[in-house]
Amino acid sequence: MDPRSLETTLVHQIFGGYLRSQVVCLRCQRPSNTYDEFLDMSVDIMHAGSVQRALADFVRPERLDGDNRYHCERCRVKVPALKRLTVHEAPNVLTVHLKRFDPMNFASGGKIGMLPRRHGLVSGPC
Ligand SMILES: [Zn+2]
Repeated sequence: MDPRSLETTLVHQIFGGYLRSQVVCLRCQRPSNTYDEFLDMSVDIMHAGSVQRALADFVRPERLDGDNRYHCERCRVKVPALKRLTVHEAPNVLTVHLKRFDPMNFASGGKIGMLPRRHGLVSGPC
């Protein structure tokens, strides 16, 4: 099925949202944005300890430096940059996938902290 048709299915109308991946060149400050549709957000709960912290970690900027430097189209060289994911368009119903296990050693993340009920984007159980 083509991407446009996928977006019109009932599942995508209910659970579909858009993530923005932004990379900002730290030399010229030029932002570069890409947008990707998502049906769920996959967050690392094992190291975060709570859903709220895992969501904060999900949108925390990551510095691209050293071997990970970013090729800026304006500067035309590899430069240090900041990369950040944000929710560009929130879905009607947000599904959060909690990654609770380390696949390398099968360790569990243990009990999950609950979200505060008055969160703007995500609500806890009623
Ligand atoms: Zn640049």
